Amino acid sequence: MSPRSSEATGSGVGRAEGQREDRAAGPSQDGAEGRSAQESAEVRQFWERLGLPGLIDVHTHFMPERVLRKVWAYFDALGPMTGGGMEWPITYRDEEGERAALLRQFGVRAFTAMLYPHKPGMAEWLNQWAVEFARRTPDCLHTATLFPEPGVAAYVRRAVDEGARVFKAHVQVGAYDPADELLDPAWGLLAEAGIPVVIHCGSGPAPGKHTGPEPIRRVLARHPRLRLVVAHMGMPEYEDFLGLAERYGEVRLDTTMAFTDFSERFAPFPRRALPRLDALGDRILLGTDFPNIPYAYVHQLHALEGLGLGDDWLRAVCYGNGARLFGL
Ligand SMILES: [Zn+2]
Repeated sequence: MSPRSSEATGSGVGRAEGQREDRAAGPSQDGAEGRSAQESAEVRQFWERLGLPGLIDVHTHFMPERVLRKVWAYFDALGPMTGGGMEWPITYRDEEGERAALLRQFGVRAFTAMLYPHKPGMAEWLNQWAVEFARRTPDCLHTATLFPEPGVAAYVRRAVDEGARVFKAHVQVGAYDPADELLDPAWGLLAEAGIPVVIHCGSGPAPGKHTGPEPIRRVLARHPRLRLVVAHMGMPEYEDFLGLAERYGEVRLDTTMAFTDFSERFAPFPRRALPRLDALGDRILLGTDFPNIPYAYVHQLHALEGLGLGDDWLRAVCYGNGARLFGL
């Protein structure tokens, strides 16, 4: 852990970690409700102090239950797989309805259903599920996904016609080159429609064959107006991706897991880049990775606060930028 993160996030951290242990310890219904009430109060205190109407979280995961179970199994196996080097206990392993209800209790006014395929032939099916999810979850920004495969432009077009407001692309899990020419018409279409694409393209927490800034540079050279939202601030290639945002006015970054004590241990955000983060304050968006996080939700907020970039920056990042981007 870097000295910066422990000093920056202060007392919120101990509380957050303690809560996680509490949650893991007791399956009792009353206990869980008591804890979530306390946690909700802490989250609401954060945005109420800033005078915000709530939060907009552009990076939360909702997906078909059996896909989500597999994601959770992956995180459960991470510790043993890395020789116990990276334990990743999921804090919010609840039913779908409870997870959405908890976000509402936190005061999250809009969130997403980040879902992504790891192989061909899966994206279209996920998109169908996402239509239904968006229908029964009005505060979720209708999310869709894509994969480099024949027919991708057609199903991306259909998703847009059905009301998709944000896309998710996962370069590491999908193990594809985002500059693959099969994706070219889809990127063109999304650029033209002005629909943001949250893209996991940094090499953290695990690198992939096509992660890192280079493939994204090629995509943006062809589609300079594409609204890419670089997930996790591009962790660990923070500065390269900040550079892309400085060069391309439609590129944004989401805060997902960045600056938290957990991430600072293996991918510390360089202090020298803080002024650039400040200058890009109108294109940084709150993202959290809820529910797949190994700490309490409020810790992400305290980590942002701990950067010391001021209340105006926090207001823009946690609400204003998302509201503008999605017309909320
Ligand atoms: Zn995520």
